Amino acid sequence: MSCIFCDIPTAKLLAENTLAVAIYDKFPVNKGHVLIIPRRHFADFFDATREEISAIYDLLHRTKTMLETELKPDGFNVGINVGQTAGQTVMHLHVHLIPRFKGDVENPRGGVRKIKPNLVPYEE
Ligand code: AMP
Ligand code: ZN
Repeated sequence: MSCIFCDIPTAKLLAENTLAVAIYDKFPVNKGHVLIIPRRHFADFFDATREEISAIYDLLHRTKTMLETELKPDGFNVGINVGQTAGQTVMHLHVHLIPRFKGDVENPRGGVRKIKPNLVPYEE
């Protein structure tokens, strides 16, 4: 079975530890869009072991620090698509770390809630 996230060339790794790796997304939502990927092949975030979650968390922090130094973003979105219905296209778990910049969208209010734009409006 071939899987793009099982076969990442070492030269593409931004950071790594024993259980996970980090790379730039090939089709970034914003400059600096990073993916944190466990080394083990499985699709579902909820199948990750506590050790894998810890390894992913470590790389999330390390790459967040790298992005802050390099790009000085104003915020981040962190997200995981779990299952095709939720939008997952690569069936090897990956956590999106997306730097956000003031003005990168007209109205950022709602953030990841915008997966269903017609449910977004809320004011309080
Ligand atoms: P998802 O929809 O959560 O499964 O996200 C898959 C992500 O993988 C998307 O953000 C793609 O842009 C990204 N992607 C697809 N192919 C590659 C690749 N060869 N290298 C790096 N990222 C990729
Ligand atoms: Zn894989």
